[in-house]
Amino acid sequence: MKRAKHQITSSLDHYLEVFQKAAEASGVIVHFATDDREANRIVLDIARKHSVSTIAKSKSMVSEEIEFNHAAEAAGLRVVETDLGEWIVQIRHERPSHMVMPAVHLSRQEVGAEMSVVLDRAISQEDIAEQVKNARDEIREAFFTAGMGITGANALIAESGTVMMVTNEGNGRLCASLPPVHVVLAGIEKLVPSFEDAVTQIRLLARSGTAQRITSYTTFISGPTPGHEMHIVLVDNGRRAMAALPEFAEALHCIRCAACANVCPPYREVGGHAFGYIYTGAIGLVVTGFHHGLDAAAGPQSLCLSCNACETVCPVGIPLPRQILDVRAVVVAKNGIKQPKRSALAVFARPRTANLALKIARKVQQPVTRDARLLRVRGVSLLRGQTRWRSLPLLARRPLQSRISNGET
Ligand code: SF4
Repeated sequence: MKRAKHQITSSLDHYLEVFQKAAEASGVIVHFATDDREANRIVLDIARKHSVSTIAKSKSMVSEEIEFNHAAEAAGLRVVETDLGEWIVQIRHERPSHMVMPAVHLSRQEVGAEMSVVLDRAISQEDIAEQVKNARDEIREAFFTAGMGITGANALIAESGTVMMVTNEGNGRLCASLPPVHVVLAGIEKLVPSFEDAVTQIRLLARSGTAQRITSYTTFISGPTPGHEMHIVLVDNGRRAMAALPEFAEALHCIRCAACANVCPPYREVGGHAFGYIYTGAIGLVVTGFHHGLDAAAGPQSLCLSCNACETVCPVGIPLPRQILDVRAVVVAKNGIKQPKRSALAVFARPRTANLALKIARKVQQPVTRDARLLRVRGVSLLRGQTRWRSLPLLARRPLQSRISNGET
């Protein structure tokens, strides 16, 4: 897989041309968008041309990246998310918090409560099967009434111009085949050279994403349904810039399995929304700056603890920890280090001073201790940001260094 992806990123223009020719030969209209605005404009123009009022949409990370739903709603269109998790976050007006499981941050009670309000009838807060049945009843209608279906692509097979899509709910193939116009929104890095490479990707994606041998629905689309129209919008939005930088190009090999989020300790503590944008977990910390600008990556990159867990699970071997440090270096070069952090680093650079400071801090923390274990300090400006929505663990009564030197474990 790594070899196939490297082949693509090192000859991107060649493979884009091969894919475009093959897709057009099978009746698809191929578009190229340099950024989010152009991608939205292309899709909205297609919708206008066909007098579309409702769009049935299956999961597409790129559509989230370019904030397509906002653009469509601003243009007066109704967009119905047909993936269950995406539909749940849509009715809550939230972003997905995970690349594979968009509503993983919600409990069944929260989902039931939200559905009861939105559907204006009592929905169980305990019985997930009842929630799913009601959601399905709502979503089904969109497949038959939508004038346009939008899907993403898990891979674009260059040799045949084929779109590969995997889902566990079957909604992708309904979005692709029932509405008269099908639009695929995909990043240019989704290319793979051959069918064989796409099949390898299915195996890696299912195993790393959901621990399945294979996803429930695997769809290959080569050309439009007879009598229908099919468009593929290939989105750059920072990807060529990534491909041009040797230290970041490998991030384009990502197959969006989200394994790097699942093992990320900060992700598990604070959830995906704290990562700021749509790509969460370690890969989000690397690519967000390219898609949304460096300022968007500046805050989230500080979530990384450099534990390196992400690199051990990534099925395509992206050097995520090193890339996150490279992003951090770029952020620091541009924004500098804030004074409180600069002072803390200066203290820790001198072990004797650091030991003394910790000794003093251990005494000072007592008045702001909430219970025997937790520190909650809203009144101290230096720590206010750190303790606004969480409590920090207390400094240990005896530092590790002194316990080790006494032979304790
Ligand atoms: S970086 Fe690797 S582990 Fe993370 S989503 Fe992409 S392929 Fe999966």
